[in-house]
Amino acid sequence: MLEDKDAALHALRHSLAHIMAAAVRQLRPDARLAFGPPVEYGFYYDFDFGETPIGENDLKQIEQGMRAIIKKREPFVREDKPCDEALRYLEEQGELYKLEYARELIEEGKAANGTLSFYTSGDFTDMCEGPHLEHTGQVPKNCFKLDRISGSYWRGDEKRPMLTRIYGLAFASGAELKEYLAMRKLAMERDHRKLGDELDLFIQDSEVGVGLPLWMPNGTVLRDELEKWAREVEFLAGYQRVTTPSVTRKELYLRSGHVPYYEDSMYPSMPIDEHDEYYLRPMCCPHHHKIYAARLRSYRDLPLRLCEYGDVFRYEKHGSLSGLLRVRAMCMNDAHIYCTPEQVASEFRNVVAMYQMYYGHLRMGNFRVRLSLHDKNSAKFVDRYEEWERSESIVREVLDGLDIKYEEESGEAAFYGPKVDIQVKNLMGREETVSTCQLDFMMPDRFDLTYVDADGERKRPFILHRAPLSTHERMISFLIELYGGAFPTWMAPVQVCLVPVNPAMLDYASETKDMLHTAFFRVEVDNSAESFNKKIRNAITRKIPNIWILGEKEKEAQAVTWRRYAEKEQQVVSRHAALNMLTTMRAQRLMDNFADVALPDC
Ligand SMILES: [Zn+2]
Ligand SMILES: [Zn+2]
Repeated sequence: MLEDKDAALHALRHSLAHIMAAAVRQLRPDARLAFGPPVEYGFYYDFDFGETPIGENDLKQIEQGMRAIIKKREPFVREDKPCDEALRYLEEQGELYKLEYARELIEEGKAANGTLSFYTSGDFTDMCEGPHLEHTGQVPKNCFKLDRISGSYWRGDEKRPMLTRIYGLAFASGAELKEYLAMRKLAMERDHRKLGDELDLFIQDSEVGVGLPLWMPNGTVLRDELEKWAREVEFLAGYQRVTTPSVTRKELYLRSGHVPYYEDSMYPSMPIDEHDEYYLRPMCCPHHHKIYAARLRSYRDLPLRLCEYGDVFRYEKHGSLSGLLRVRAMCMNDAHIYCTPEQVASEFRNVVAMYQMYYGHLRMGNFRVRLSLHDKNSAKFVDRYEEWERSESIVREVLDGLDIKYEEESGEAAFYGPKVDIQVKNLMGREETVSTCQLDFMMPDRFDLTYVDADGERKRPFILHRAPLSTHERMISFLIELYGGAFPTWMAPVQVCLVPVNPAMLDYASETKDMLHTAFFRVEVDNSAESFNKKIRNAITRKIPNIWILGEKEKEAQAVTWRRYAEKEQQVVSRHAALNMLTTMRAQRLMDNFADVALPDC
């Protein structure tokens, strides 16, 4: 059923590309056609307009032309022309781009039965494979919109001519188009790059380098709060913190196999001292393995859980860098669990439960679980098939045992073992791996890790790699967009904004500020010369979760008027009770940025 729906949408978008080209031709008979495929969310067509390309202002008129063609209910009629006739036709029409492509199809033997297919609707003919609607009248009402114009090189080759690409949006119905536009507007408003700038969270600087964000004080608060939380959770779960360096000798990566298996994603090595080479580390694992290996380990020491919020560096292609989502330097909620084979399942289960706790608490509901397996035919994975099979089935059993829904995908494993990926969708439906948990059967061998078992034998431990809170960069980019920049009190860079109603209240404000500050709350007094209403608006624009209004009446009663972000109602609370409430919200890490969360009683 889904496939039928997809095929119908494909035909609709494809037909609209024809209809747009036909309308463009009416406006500009000289326009030469290049490619015009359906794409995600719609379609585009590339044109060569010679000296005078059209502009965004022409889109309205083209849309009108399209509507006129749709009204005429013109059938799409297929004709298979013998190859030589097809070439002659395209040449006569001056369709140089289509001609080049037709020659290529013929040369590659892709002209079925020695013919090339053409579709005509009205007086517009295009070489194309189809399929289309039966006639133009089948285009649903208000289901499309011309979106934007961009430049694009013919065949994506910068040495070839620059063409004009017109993008259109198209969906199965007008309602779906409307929904998409609303979602896109929201996504643009909530784009973490835009909000990151507006809320003073992070910046990028060309002299520092691309993909190397600088965290401002406000953004650093977000990192610190997540990290503080992780420390508490990990402490309670029996983890031990370690600290290891960000650069390391090539020898370590030869042992771990990062060189050569992972080398493409690493910064090139640097020569150090006489004959040594060093790398910026892409992961913390090998360092943690060294800590494990440094002492004789008994089965009584296991599971040993070593954790570190570690800085790591990866070489991402320039074109794939994007805000905080894809960067070249990041800080990861990393840990490695060394355990006996008998402990693997329960440790894995605990890690998955930790993920569920974090995701549930942060309200990151839009995710799926992927079991990433190796691919026998790829050189990206170590070739120890029995171990692959064995460890993959362990992970599968754990997931089944926890009744977790997941999808299997081969070729997505780490080079040293299978992993469970948490795939999170952003507002626009784009999916990224945010967190992973990996089962590693290879590094214990490579690092000769052992433990002395109860029977006195030396045995190999298993390793779990896990990073539920991902990297600060990726996690925070998601949270900014999920919350639209309105963070809960416990995370918010400024937790309380104090607004004195007149200058006479400044003393009371400063006294209240001291009270909060000594209780380790992040608090500001708005003592600017702005009007009262403007001060409230400013605090709302900055998405500060709590505004305390201080006037004569409040001072008298040693109270505050408490107004919450995005809420009009306000209540008068004694200062003492208000401080208690804030303290409870912080201690519980209350998600008070969601309307359905009940605040503690005063
Ligand atoms: Zn077509
Ligand atoms: Zn690791």
